[in-house]
Amino acid sequence: MENSEEISMSKIVRALSADGSVLCSAIDSTDIANEIFRLHKTTPVATAALGRLATAGSIMGAMLKSEDDRLTLRMNGNGPAGNIVVAADYMGNVKCYADNVNVDLPLKPNGKLDVSGYVGTDGFLGVIKDLGLKEPYATQVPIISGEIAEDITSYYAISEQIPTVCALGVLVDRDWTVKHAGGFLIQLVPPINENAIDIIEQNIKTMQSVTELMEQGRTPEDIALMGLAGLNGEVLDEWECGYYCNCSRERTEQILLSLGRDELSKLAEEQDETEVCCHFCDKKYKFTADELRELLKNA
Ligand SMILES: [Zn+2]
Repeated sequence: MENSEEISMSKIVRALSADGSVLCSAIDSTDIANEIFRLHKTTPVATAALGRLATAGSIMGAMLKSEDDRLTLRMNGNGPAGNIVVAADYMGNVKCYADNVNVDLPLKPNGKLDVSGYVGTDGFLGVIKDLGLKEPYATQVPIISGEIAEDITSYYAISEQIPTVCALGVLVDRDWTVKHAGGFLIQLVPPINENAIDIIEQNIKTMQSVTELMEQGRTPEDIALMGLAGLNGEVLDEWECGYYCNCSRERTEQILLSLGRDELSKLAEEQDETEVCCHFCDKKYKFTADELRELLKNA
């Protein structure tokens, strides 16, 4: 993270119940969601969807164990969004894209952005964890709501059999910037304390939405501890994370090479300049025909 001024900062806080049986991670991801809007020029519904999935990705990434672990979330519900992809590292730094970010949908009858209409409800949420093993751990669950938080909860219930509650929120302002974005994830740590489940269910019932809480000035610390109310929660750790893309000219060369020799020489013959645009941050890498031939020579 050497270019720290390029990275906007969001904050993750994790709190643990006194008996160690419940972990609650909360994040203020407003800066991440604003960076999504700035980079991808998303419409409000796309900002909300990408912002929510990136918020979940950040929290889930922060639960990875070691420095080189990576997490990818991929959602495709056969809605106008197409694929929505979020990649996160173990610090909760994220990057994301969607196939189609220029979608406008009418608000739902309750006045909210129609995230499930954008994502679609007929498809899958895929979770890929690259833990440095030979094969990444990949699994997918059917999308149940398309509103994303419920789908993350369902992933944990089905795939990891861990009782989990997830809440995500993105509040888009009139000028399409993000006023508040955040989320929390409450997870039981085995051995499961059945009593704690009842207490958490009660907490969830009484808590307002994440963006309402943020609108009242609640911090991620406040929200993490509210999730653990009645369980003597204490803040375990907290740190900053952001929207971060690690693309580079070298990585782009690798992507070009992965097209294969035939495809690459065809590009070199057909056009004077080949431009490769990073899906995640919109950075453009240009290669002249000579540079492509050079690449081929050294491959
Ligand atoms: Zn990039």
